[in-house]
Amino acid sequence: MTFPDIISDLRVRTPALRGRLVPNQPLAELTWFRVGGPAQLLFMPEDEQDLSYFLAHLPPEIPVTVIGLGSNLIVRDGGVPGVVIRLGRGFSNVVAEPGQRIRAGAAVPDVKVARAAQDAGIAGLAFFRGIPGAIGGALRMNGGAYGGETKDVLVAARGVDRTGRTRVFSNAEMQYSYRNCGVPDDVIFTEALFQGSAGDPAIITAEMDKITESRETTQPIKSRTGGSTFKNPPGHKAWQLIDAAGCRGLTIRAAQVSELHCNFLINRGGANAADIETLGETVRSRVREISGVELEWEIKRIGAERG
Ligand SMILES: Cc1cc2nc3c(=O)[nH]c(=O)nc-3n(C[C@H](O)[C@H](O)[C@H](O)COP(=O)(O)OP(=O)(O)OC[C@H]3O[C@@H](n4cnc5c(N)ncnc54)[C@H](O)[C@@H]3O)c2cc1C
Repeated sequence: MTFPDIISDLRVRTPALRGRLVPNQPLAELTWFRVGGPAQLLFMPEDEQDLSYFLAHLPPEIPVTVIGLGSNLIVRDGGVPGVVIRLGRGFSNVVAEPGQRIRAGAAVPDVKVARAAQDAGIAGLAFFRGIPGAIGGALRMNGGAYGGETKDVLVAARGVDRTGRTRVFSNAEMQYSYRNCGVPDDVIFTEALFQGSAGDPAIITAEMDKITESRETTQPIKSRTGGSTFKNPPGHKAWQLIDAAGCRGLTIRAAQVSELHCNFLINRGGANAADIETLGETVRSRVREISGVELEWEIKRIGAERG
């Protein structure tokens, strides 16, 4: 499928744009599940100023969606209308600052933040080793693993809103809860400042090695997956409810509930987004029938179903 052209008009409106515009960019290759249709237009800004300029000149009726490393995403088969924004090189700096702080661009993979902290002898950020996304996704999802969460270490985040205005949010203004951020959805995060504490590099290294090992044995990290599919409902573990409902290994065409970790869905090769989403909804309804608990999607689903 292909979307109608919007690039010509946008080029006229944004003569000073420096970033790349790509019409009908397939998104499957930019996500872990490897499914879904194209973006009507993909925009990769050069830097924060370029992003602001673009958004300020983009007609308000054109929808904007931001993606990171696509590790928590199902892109639907009909693709994503409007503009999809993906941050790249201009947002990939990570530096240690005085006072056990790390400043990281939103395109920096979480694991690099963990490593930068390790190199600088900063404790408290090792949990980022366990999350395969980039910092923008961690800020939006309040990503967390192995007892740590983004909200525990964030000082402030910068972002740009749909009108192109640059904004700064303190930790409290992020209004964090479990895998959720209260900042309006139109805000695209560009940078984060994290606070750790003085740590012993050998202990931090041991902690990171433990996380690496544990992930490899408990999660299907080499599969096409989106990580935990559903949030843990209060007082429950999603995987236990899914297991109790008999869904471990459940398959719809090439989409399967992981045998290893049954809150993970897997594309075994050749599944489309509809297969994966239908499998997720089947799991939700079986869990509802068996335990009466309503599972809430943690994975974000974007775009349109195939018409
Ligand atoms: C094998 C595996 C294991 C995982 N384990 C964990 C885990 O232990 N803990 C955990 O928390 N998560 C885990 N996840 C899920 C995922 O890695 C996290 O949610 C991660 O934070 C998503 O980052 P991303 O860059 O991939 O974002 P994407 O998946 O691309 O996007 C996720 C959401 O973030 C938004 N977003 C992305 N970038 C920005 C930005 N710059 N500004 C504003 N919004 C943005 C998107 O619009 C979307 O709503 C796992 C996933 C996989 C595949």
